[in-house]
Amino acid sequence: MRRKMAAGNWKMNGSSAALGVISELAAAHADSTDTDTDIVICPPAPLLFRASELARSSALTIGAQDCHSAPSGAFTGDIAAPMIADTGATHVIVGHSERRDAYHESNSDVRAKTMAAWDAGLTAILCIGESAATREAGNTLDIIAEQLSGSVPDGTTGGNLVVAYEPVWAIGTGAVATTAQINEVHDFIRTRLIQRLGDEVGTAIRLLYGGSVKPGNATEIFQCANVDGALVGGASLKAQDFTPIIHALI
Ligand code: PGA
Repeated sequence: MRRKMAAGNWKMNGSSAALGVISELAAAHADSTDTDTDIVICPPAPLLFRASELARSSALTIGAQDCHSAPSGAFTGDIAAPMIADTGATHVIVGHSERRDAYHESNSDVRAKTMAAWDAGLTAILCIGESAATREAGNTLDIIAEQLSGSVPDGTTGGNLVVAYEPVWAIGTGAVATTAQINEVHDFIRTRLIQRLGDEVGTAIRLLYGGSVKPGNATEIFQCANVDGALVGGASLKAQDFTPIIHALI
């Protein structure tokens, strides 16, 4: 049985004032043993230390939004995976479409970042997803296959990898994918992972849906067989929005 996951991606939002959301979620999920759902908040990097302290001894865990592929070095402005682990964070998002787009991150960049995350003991939340043009051209599964084979490194234990399917056209737009679209892609991802990594590992990897997940649509999305949770942007910024999404999983 795979653990569920509700992951919040704050993107470039949230000052120290937003740490109140972390405290609120940590207090609401104070017992780390009473649930089979992982709750992860990924705030901006300057908040990681404080967020990890506030989440300690609760069921809430903290993640970063990106890491460099090298463990240290002359990379001004970048953040290495061991630094993220040093803050107490346990997860890191890699290959988000906003980074693939704005920073031209390739599948091989994402693969290298994922390996760096694993070397630092972090769980990688690896994002894939097609653009509107790709979907309209009928090439969604081809692109998903390419992203999977190019971005997912060999050697996962299953537990240290979470794959988030985020159709680019659904991110921040309110245009959520239909359950038919989600099922098609998630079933495809599961089959591909099993083909490549074997039954045990391929079945253990959690698959999240992301793209305009809200309290009002989470329950329906979570009924899809190969959806183990969600990567949530806008609706993770307020505890009152994120909490019903967590509850739809628990
Ligand atoms: P959204 O973002 O929930 O605001 O659409 C999801 C994401 O980008 O991870």
